[in-house]
Amino acid sequence: MIKPLLILFMIFILQSTIAQNKQITGFYEKNVDKELNLEAAFDKDLSKENIGETIKKLSAEPHHINSLGDKKNAEYILSLFTKWGWDAKIETFYVLFPIPETRILEMTSPAFYKAVLKEPALKEDATSGQPGQLPTYNSYSADGDVSAELVFVNYGLPEDYEILDKMRVDVKGKIVIAKYGNSWRGIKPKVAQEHGAIGCIIYSDPADDGYFQGDVYPKGAFRNEFGVQRGSVMDMPIYPGDPLTPGIGATKDAKRLDRLNAPSLLKIPVLPISYHDAAHLLEALDGQIVPVDWHGGLPFALHVGAGKTKVHLKVTFNWNIVPCYDVIAKIQGSKYPDEWVIRGNHHDAWVNGAGDPISGQAALLEEAKSIGNMLSTGWKPDRTIIYCAWDGEEPGLLGSTEWVEEHEKELKEKAVVYINSDANGRGFLFAQGSNSLEPFMEEIAKQVIDPQTNVSILERRRDHEAITAGSTDTKKRIWNEKDLKLDALGSGSDYSSFIQHAGIPSLNLGFGGEDPSGDYHSIYDSYDLYVRFKDPGFQYGITLAETVGHAVLRMANADGLPFDFTHLFNAVSAYSNEVMALLKTSREATELDNTIIRFGGYAVGEDPKKGYILPVQKAEVPYLDFSPLQNALNELGKSVDTLSIVFQNKIKTNHMSSQFNQSLYRAEQQLLNETGLPRRSWYKHVLYAPGYYTGYGVKTLPGIREAIEQRIWNEAQEQIVTDAKIIAKLAEYFQAICSQSN
Ligand SMILES: [Zn+2]
Repeated sequence: MIKPLLILFMIFILQSTIAQNKQITGFYEKNVDKELNLEAAFDKDLSKENIGETIKKLSAEPHHINSLGDKKNAEYILSLFTKWGWDAKIETFYVLFPIPETRILEMTSPAFYKAVLKEPALKEDATSGQPGQLPTYNSYSADGDVSAELVFVNYGLPEDYEILDKMRVDVKGKIVIAKYGNSWRGIKPKVAQEHGAIGCIIYSDPADDGYFQGDVYPKGAFRNEFGVQRGSVMDMPIYPGDPLTPGIGATKDAKRLDRLNAPSLLKIPVLPISYHDAAHLLEALDGQIVPVDWHGGLPFALHVGAGKTKVHLKVTFNWNIVPCYDVIAKIQGSKYPDEWVIRGNHHDAWVNGAGDPISGQAALLEEAKSIGNMLSTGWKPDRTIIYCAWDGEEPGLLGSTEWVEEHEKELKEKAVVYINSDANGRGFLFAQGSNSLEPFMEEIAKQVIDPQTNVSILERRRDHEAITAGSTDTKKRIWNEKDLKLDALGSGSDYSSFIQHAGIPSLNLGFGGEDPSGDYHSIYDSYDLYVRFKDPGFQYGITLAETVGHAVLRMANADGLPFDFTHLFNAVSAYSNEVMALLKTSREATELDNTIIRFGGYAVGEDPKKGYILPVQKAEVPYLDFSPLQNALNELGKSVDTLSIVFQNKIKTNHMSSQFNQSLYRAEQQLLNETGLPRRSWYKHVLYAPGYYTGYGVKTLPGIREAIEQRIWNEAQEQIVTDAKIIAKLAEYFQAICSQSN
């Protein structure tokens, strides 16, 4: 009697595991096989060799915005989409893009030195000596011709200036030199300008991406002594995109701001340099020795300057308005043509850009080819798929921002999701995005296989994070964690306007971590370097195409859109706990410091020979009322639970309606505050924004968090109330969807 029962039981277990494996959130059971077969067919057409050839072709010439190579690439990408059966066109915007006319940096005292300001061609790197390369410069630096004493300001962030204050070093009327890193580069001149500096030099320190990290190029991948990081210093935390047309598309006849009044443009000149040039200036500095942790990797004692060392910096630009070519390719959805799944990666580079952005662009094109092949068999996606190759990302997310601003109204009706990628290489999945997409991405990451280890990309990432975790507690938590968490989106690539301005649910995906290098924004970001150090064999190009391709196809065909707002609720609850804890820590730190000051602790504890300025007592940190936020979260928690049940029932009973789906993808827009963040109204999302003083780095609940950090207490309280209202509105929105569908 036992045996047949056991067999029956085993059959039951086997069947239920098969059924379990064949579940995709958002798909009716009857449609799961069809989707999985489709994804398998999609994968079959992806080719490593093809990705390699695309990277080689698109990085063959310099292709910054408005270069010949840029236009040629845009037209070539257009021809590929058309060949593969997409309905494609180039959409052109007209944007401000300065090119340098003069670049002079010289030390005039105590000795004369003229900066090289040029990266040499290398025989090991075939494209490094090409004509048409942009020189080393920071775009959107102001024109300027200044001479002054030089001051070393570490990374040039607000906390560095607090230390300089204490050391009695004032940068007013001086030129500062800062290290690259630890923030978006545009923060450095912005903070320098706020402190009265008249010029800013930024250099790549060997400790950060040079010989301290490994062999330098061409022997290894790290930045050699003449390597320079180009890049934008637009004030992107105010708004990205064309500086002259904030909030509107930069079409030919758009109303433009006067350049001298554009809020995202700096007032002081800026120039990036190599550590060869920087060493000449830094070694000549006198004055006090810098704090120990300010030392980078240069082999001499560093002084803060502000004394005898003087430099002359002159930069002038040709402030042209230039065309920006976005390639936009569509496949009309057969069931829901007015629901758009959007996928993008930029195509412009600073120079040849084999890694940034072509490695991501090559994966995008490989996906488009495979989807095109499926079209030729008669297949059609349920929803419309739109693939975008953006121009002008490097100067300031120009192409994507202008496109979103131009089509904002339509996007708010139709855009289901935006999926971004950028530079890609060997290593681990990185995934940022709207928290409601966590289970969706987790399911995909469980099924895509890591090419080096043959486990899922989810497992590979988890194990890597576990073994490199700092503390035993973190290690334990990560090891036991089975789910995928999406990091919050800050800035630094083309998703910014989608999520932060228009409230379109967004993802930013890629691979890396086993491809460290120092070629970023230099002439050495080339095909030759890429194949040696970034993704030899182009395996991770395939892995990216599979990951993003599955995400696109699932979103395009899902019966019910796979947003899970319980994850959004969990994330917002965590952010809310963080800002409450931040206020508490800030209060305790202030109280303690004030006590130490009152008892003369700083006067006694500091080195008396250094003559530091002693700190003065700060105003106490008040208690703020977080109850509106807590009550709103309570409502949100209840509403997302109900919504989950309604969603699951609809899937189980094959009863999803297109109206319900539309409500799901438009939910993220409920998190927009139409008046925007304080001092930067372009940023409307109440959950995520790039930090005002970090740039790339995200600030979650930015209105509340930054007001606390900047000690503007009344504003913090106002922002708590504002955010609470918005979260309560989202809860009501969910309740309404649930009751409508009953
Ligand atoms: Zn990029």
